[in-house]
Amino acid sequence: MPSHLADPDHNLSFTRGLFLGDLREDLLLPFPAPDKEGLESLTAILDSYRAFAKAHLDTRKQDHDGKFSDAVLAGMAELGLMGLNIPEAYGGFGAGAIVTNRVFGEIGATDAALAVYFGAHQSIGCKGITLFGTEDQKQRWLTSCASGARIAGFCLTEAGSGSDAQAMRTSAVPSADGSHYLLNGQKIWISNAGYAGVFTVFAKVPTVVDGKAKERVTAFIVDAHAPGVSLGKIEEKMGIKASDTRSVSFDNVQVPVADRLGDVGQGFKIALEVLNAGRLGLAAASTRGAQAILEVALAHAKQREQFGRSIGSFEMIQRKFASLAVDVYASDAAWMVTAGMVDRGGIDFSLETAACKVFGSELVFRAASEALQIAGGIGYSKEYPYEQALRDSRINMIFEGTNEIQRALIALSGLQQPGEELKAIGKAFKDPLRSIGAIGSFLSERVKKKLVKPEFEQVHASLADEAAMIAENIHDLALAVERALLRHGKEIIERQFDQERMANAAIDIYLAACTLVRASWAIEQAGGPEKAPADLDHAKLFVPAASRRARRAVRAMDRNQDARLKGIAERALASGVLTVKLPTDA
Ligand SMILES: Cc1cc2nc3c(=O)[nH]c(=O)nc-3n(C[C@H](O)[C@H](O)[C@H](O)COP(=O)(O)OP(=O)(O)OC[C@H]3O[C@@H](n4cnc5c(N)ncnc54)[C@H](O)[C@@H]3O)c2cc1C
Repeated sequence: MPSHLADPDHNLSFTRGLFLGDLREDLLLPFPAPDKEGLESLTAILDSYRAFAKAHLDTRKQDHDGKFSDAVLAGMAELGLMGLNIPEAYGGFGAGAIVTNRVFGEIGATDAALAVYFGAHQSIGCKGITLFGTEDQKQRWLTSCASGARIAGFCLTEAGSGSDAQAMRTSAVPSADGSHYLLNGQKIWISNAGYAGVFTVFAKVPTVVDGKAKERVTAFIVDAHAPGVSLGKIEEKMGIKASDTRSVSFDNVQVPVADRLGDVGQGFKIALEVLNAGRLGLAAASTRGAQAILEVALAHAKQREQFGRSIGSFEMIQRKFASLAVDVYASDAAWMVTAGMVDRGGIDFSLETAACKVFGSELVFRAASEALQIAGGIGYSKEYPYEQALRDSRINMIFEGTNEIQRALIALSGLQQPGEELKAIGKAFKDPLRSIGAIGSFLSERVKKKLVKPEFEQVHASLADEAAMIAENIHDLALAVERALLRHGKEIIERQFDQERMANAAIDIYLAACTLVRASWAIEQAGGPEKAPADLDHAKLFVPAASRRARRAVRAMDRNQDARLKGIAERALASGVLTVKLPTDA
């Protein structure tokens, strides 16, 4: 197994563990703050990007024109940013997840469309080649991607296959002489399509398994200029307008066998691995994007006066800044802790990047909306950056797997192990005499689970109360998961009201745990809680709020109005009319 791949069956991830009541604090540690040397090199990269952005980046003009200037495209390549995460052996900078995602955040804070350009190229476009390519493929494709001479795109989505990627129709049929595949089909919504020189394309290859004809999703590296590849018109989008998004059609494109990425049938796994890592960049960019637009609003709130004083002096405005600052702190802690896992290797981080993506993407949209509110009327004007921030940020909840799909992924993956344990014990009860040992240990495990609560051991003593709240949440979640599995059995797959609650609880618990780790690190660095009062304030606000939300979500698994919710939704879906006839409906 390649070293970047984790082995979740043998090494439970932090979030998967929550569903069993486990608190794998060791997986969050150490907090991956860069050392002095790392910080110097990061500062050099950020400074050169900032100087470039100041000289060449005009985010409003890019939004208006729907494209980047040549100077922006050339500058990103010249700075070496298009190869930041590509190994040095192939001409890249070889940066790890902390540096890459921090830079991603900086780009997201200056221009969201440029972050999509950067991410579609490196986080997803050529990431499959980095992770799964052969030496020959890396030499032939990655080196030009690293220099920025060739821009990459990722082609998964089709008209009939969005969230349900397995439903794809694009096909790749091996030629009779075995030298190439014939690629046919159409992908839609492809970021960077107009800039791209290479695509990672997912298509179904016909095969025979046990005498039966099957189709297996397989990944291919496709030259964007090969005969038979054509682009649709530029999509007119709500935001991130300079990121060129189009459909890409493949009409009898000959793809050499040497450009098949991985084995036949490995495509879906490759897509998931690529997206798992890619989501972290989206989370980091969202977090810094949220901070950036709120800082514009801060400057406004300081100087804008109403009722003879600055609007920033009103507590309703202060509440907005403070609660969002706390969420930015938590979101930043979470992507960093997760990036630490990525850099350490061998740890399953798929649910953690999903949690970061959901939290970060919802945060940046909320932040943009609140910043616009603080700006008042000018917030609604195109002369100011707020409305663009609101439009640009909306996409993050949709692409790289919608937030609904991320929540289902977290819940259903988390349920896997407790579900298997209960199934095994269900079988054991059918033959109790032979399974006395298994039943006995299951029952004592259950008793233990009910009595023993997990504990954080490395959180700073000044945050002990907050750590205890989250430990309690983990305990409660595991018990509720078990009750839900006993109540619904296999049917839990259809119970999305509960899946959403479990996922929301797990996301809040993960964010809170990362916040505890981050704040503890800051307190220790400073030499005590009194020397890190701001960190303490952020953690002491975020953790109890996250804990309350998690507690409410878990409680609602047992006490809810789901039957009524379903009734209203199904009545509306059947009739096409949202609600009852209203008194003023004429
Ligand atoms: C600007 C932009 C750039 C993009 N870039 C790329 C790219 O570079 N490469 C690429 O391959 N794709 C790209 N996409 C596609 C994007 O990833 C998809 O739009 C996304 O995955 C959702 O698919 P869909 O649009 O078909 O929505 P659908 O799958 O039809 O979903 C519609 C709604 O139904 C919900 N839903 C669907 N299934 C379930 C379920 N099982 N349970 C609960 N809710 C569900 C979804 O969450 C969503 O709210 C891009 C899209 C946009 C808009």
